[in-house]
Amino acid sequence: MFAAPTRICRVAIPAPLRTVFDYLVPAAFPWPSVGARVRVPFGPRRLAVGVVVEHADTSLASGKRLKPIAEILDSEPVIPGPMLELLQWAADYYHHPIGDVMATALPAKLRRGDPSVLHGERVWVLTSAGSQIDLSLFGRARVQRRVWEALNAAPAGLRESALAEVTPRWRATIEAFAAKGWVAYDDLDCLEGGPPATTAPPTLTPAQAAAVAAVGAAAGFAPFLLHGVTGSGKTEVYLRAIEKVLRQGRQALVLVPEISLTPQLAARFRSRFSAPIAVLHSNLNDQARACAWLMARAGKAPIVLGTRSAIFTPLPRLGLIVVDEEHDASFKQQDGFRYSARDIAILRASREHVPIVLGSATPSLETLQRVRDGAYTRLTLAERAGGAMMPTIELLDLRKLPHEDGISPPLRAALIETLARGEQSLLFLNRRGFAPVWMCYGCGWIAPCPRCDARLTFHRGGARLRCHHCGSESELPAACPTCRGTDLHPLGEGTERVESALTRWFPQARVLRIDRDSVRAKGALEATLARVREGDADILIGTQMLSKGHDFPNVTLVGVLNADQGLYSTDFRSAERLVQQIVQVSGRAGRAAKTGRVLIQTFHPSHPVLAALVHQNYDAFADYAMEERRQTGFPPFAHLALLRAEATAATVALAFLRRARAVARGIIPDTVQIMDPVPSPMERRAGRYRAQMLVQSTKRSALHALLRPWIERIGELKETRRVRWSVDVDPIDLY
Ligand SMILES: [Zn+2]
Ligand SMILES: [Zn+2]
Repeated sequence: MFAAPTRICRVAIPAPLRTVFDYLVPAAFPWPSVGARVRVPFGPRRLAVGVVVEHADTSLASGKRLKPIAEILDSEPVIPGPMLELLQWAADYYHHPIGDVMATALPAKLRRGDPSVLHGERVWVLTSAGSQIDLSLFGRARVQRRVWEALNAAPAGLRESALAEVTPRWRATIEAFAAKGWVAYDDLDCLEGGPPATTAPPTLTPAQAAAVAAVGAAAGFAPFLLHGVTGSGKTEVYLRAIEKVLRQGRQALVLVPEISLTPQLAARFRSRFSAPIAVLHSNLNDQARACAWLMARAGKAPIVLGTRSAIFTPLPRLGLIVVDEEHDASFKQQDGFRYSARDIAILRASREHVPIVLGSATPSLETLQRVRDGAYTRLTLAERAGGAMMPTIELLDLRKLPHEDGISPPLRAALIETLARGEQSLLFLNRRGFAPVWMCYGCGWIAPCPRCDARLTFHRGGARLRCHHCGSESELPAACPTCRGTDLHPLGEGTERVESALTRWFPQARVLRIDRDSVRAKGALEATLARVREGDADILIGTQMLSKGHDFPNVTLVGVLNADQGLYSTDFRSAERLVQQIVQVSGRAGRAAKTGRVLIQTFHPSHPVLAALVHQNYDAFADYAMEERRQTGFPPFAHLALLRAEATAATVALAFLRRARAVARGIIPDTVQIMDPVPSPMERRAGRYRAQMLVQSTKRSALHALLRPWIERIGELKETRRVRWSVDVDPIDLY
């Protein structure tokens, strides 16, 4: 007898297990490609969609009867080789299950097993032959004439759905036109773009020109930090660098931290490039996202613009990666697969041998340290484009000034002056709601969240108390539960309170609040931002949403209502984040011909961080903060991982971490320290108790050498049954 050789595929399946699964390839099937999706039986009654990562002829799952693959979903790899390797690296580095990593990389439709072929609506456009025909050709064929006229009026082409509105008999007409070579189509319905460039490029400043030249001269992998003050024209540098990449017939990948920044940037791109743009972010519907992703993967989208997970878009002709606002914490995913899109972007650029530009006015200390090490090249834009001046920055000492509803007299006076000039003001307060505290003036009782170690925030809309950590809500208590008194009041200021004070003081002014409560509806933020740009607002009051790189050209006054929130926090990154937010929000002041003014209210005017801000010297701040990090052994001078646990009782989470620490014995390298397990800064959240344990090393390799076997040992502990636990490599938030 002649036995057919056993054909086995290793398949990555979204599941909590950190392993791949072996399946038989039935004799009637061809070998599925590595990187193709397959449907496989998984668990007792379920079929799962997985990605083939390897071919084999023997199984590692000894003794078990292997199940056969049920269906091969792709005839070619949906995840091409280089992307597959990058994902395997990421799974390994972040110690996250490979199947889940693969699932993160795929659009939802493909994850569910839908076909990976493009079947979008076609967009029909007249060819040059078609646009030059003699109209008398149509004679009395009125339908043909109507279709031709509609196409002629739409130089970017018409979708099939739009043609159907012209005439229900469009299809026969289009087919007749196509046969004569008068029309052509593209499957571009999910891409943005079309009309030819409308804006002439501006003249570059010498610093911009130098940056463009440096990026353009790079051959192969070359990491750049584009450190440009706000308003210095970083986007123009991206545009020029992308232009060159497009001329070479290659693709550019641009990452932004926030969905709300994509329309602004996409519009900039559209005004300069006729090349189609694939925009990828989580607000797209599944169909549009899958289509844009497939177009990018097929090489049909020369520009790909997206948020965090767009880093996993396969691009066959990648020529450049841009990470805008590289310091932004949104590039790090905070749950599940906790990856940093910025860090993966650097690795991807290095593996695919392309330049990468990290842009920021306030670079992260990690990136600055790489510049100081000589690993990255810094390109500096120290001046604003178009001759605009940097705003002046002054501190207002709240110890010496009265303040009403969060605003001191000098800031109020500045608001009055700005209103009188017909210019816009922006007030920054990183606290939404009306007041952060609801207090009894009889006994000092403060309304707590019943499920968290947190106070409830008073929201005047609906007169309710809300927890910003777990979302629980309650009515205002009629009397104090402790002393039965009824003298209960809001204490402190949130954005709602400032908004109401402003409308009271300046009844003629148009006051606009921008925070998570005011722009909850889909598209509301974009609409609000558009109103601001069109001048339909006099004073803006908002949270950190305002510090995210939106362009407000008419704002000439910025007030930071409370700069102190980040100065004395337990999180080692809080000062860095505070400075980044203030510099970013200050950068909204004074563009073009109008000089801006920034007023920062603080109780600590002599703090070195604020002094660096006043002198607008980000490097001075970075020196100060780096020294602090060096002394305390935090990144970029050490590498961290955080083991988190949560349980229904505090003792359970802590006991689990102590056991985890114990099983590290014998495998922990000398250069790695595991700190004591501690309750998280907010120990109780949404009714669960949380604890954490920091692992620290000056050697990245030593840290990972521990994590690999350690996580396996932790997974075998019986204590895992009573906790939810996770490992966060390079954590951004330490709580
Ligand atoms: Zn009381
Ligand atoms: Zn809560």
